Amino acid sequence: MSELIQHLSQHLPPNQIIVDDLRRLAYGTDASFYRLTPEVIAVIENEAEARAVLQTAKQHNRPVTFRAAGTSLSGQAITDGILALIGEGFATYEQNADASKVKVGPGIVGGEVNRRLAPFGMKIGPDPASIGAAKIGGIAANNASGMCCGTAQNSYRTLAGMRVMLADGSTIDTEDHLSVDAFSRSHAVLLGELERLGRDTRNNARLADRIRHKFKIKNTTGYSLNALIDYEDPIDILSHLMIGSEGTLGFISRITYNTVVEDPFKASALVFFPDIRTACEAVIRLKPQPVSAVELLDRPALRSVDNKPGLPPIMRELGEEAAALLIEVRSATVDGINERISKVHRRDGWRRHR
Ligand SMILES: Cc1cc2nc3c(=O)[nH]c(=O)nc-3n(C[C@H](O)[C@H](O)[C@H](O)COP(=O)(O)OP(=O)(O)OC[C@H]3O[C@@H](n4cnc5c(N)ncnc54)[C@H](O)[C@@H]3O)c2cc1C
Repeated sequence: MSELIQHLSQHLPPNQIIVDDLRRLAYGTDASFYRLTPEVIAVIENEAEARAVLQTAKQHNRPVTFRAAGTSLSGQAITDGILALIGEGFATYEQNADASKVKVGPGIVGGEVNRRLAPFGMKIGPDPASIGAAKIGGIAANNASGMCCGTAQNSYRTLAGMRVMLADGSTIDTEDHLSVDAFSRSHAVLLGELERLGRDTRNNARLADRIRHKFKIKNTTGYSLNALIDYEDPIDILSHLMIGSEGTLGFISRITYNTVVEDPFKASALVFFPDIRTACEAVIRLKPQPVSAVELLDRPALRSVDNKPGLPPIMRELGEEAAALLIEVRSATVDGINERISKVHRRDGWRRHR
């Protein structure tokens, strides 16, 4: 047994330390095409175990990668060091009376959070297509977003509070003023530097404009630098920098989201175009319309489903360059949805296929 494993064994029960070849191989990939076989998988069920793993990793000079559901597409959830697998102990859930806020652990599946919020007509903002499998830790740390949430309802925009553990094992709970006070004293240098970085960035008009421009559309490349221009309080900067940091800045042990309304009435239309260019031009014309989502399907995407039951026969007769838009409108009321449907239909030049 290596010294690393021996040390981990002092903090974690044996069933939470995985060293066999088969499971190390299985955890050597996520939903990406990369492979890195972890030296060891340490299942963490609480903050004390997360802290012990971070301290052991530091002592043995090994990298740590957190893993929630492992559905990342770019290799964020793999490592040849220590893979810290977020266990069921972190699948926590609390909501306030009107479900306007939800406090969740990194180990709960996003879809499960939405199932619990559904009776209140609410949901979390981020809506990755993988929400049925992806867990809160990964959704927040990737700043994942799907068809509808865009940049308005992602984790960055709907963050209400966070509990974070840094590499030194310290924690801050941004919703607990005692915790904030203690952290402000123990990490005054770090917070002072973040404050200065924010001020310098805001004072540099060219840089601030560039950051604003970059984050106008979905941008999950690199850190959420918009935190430096959107916030002045260093605690806000810190918590928003954690969003999208892919586990490189610390461990998110809990997050509070402002929830968003789940409209009960939805309607969708599949609209075909002779080519991608025309479809893209239609997207521009749809922009001012009350649409919630517009998804582009290219020819191979259409071909891959054209024999599925329920899809219109015209799909099999489309030209080689054809493309389609899947358009969705949503509303809180029947009248509202009908009004939105007719607004979208009023656009000139649409040919509808049912
Ligand atoms: C079929 C499919 C559809 C997808 N659709 C979308 C989509 O529509 N939009 C989209 O944005 N993405 C999408 N993805 C990518 C991926 O599913 C999401 O980004 C998802 O949010 C990742 O969640 P996860 O639980 O699998 O996280 P993981 O892959 O396990 O981890 C993601 C990252 O977060 C870090 N991390 C995890 N937990 C913590 C924590 N507690 N503290 C700090 N860091 C942590 C990990 O180290 C890693 O860097 C899709 C993937 C698949 C396979």
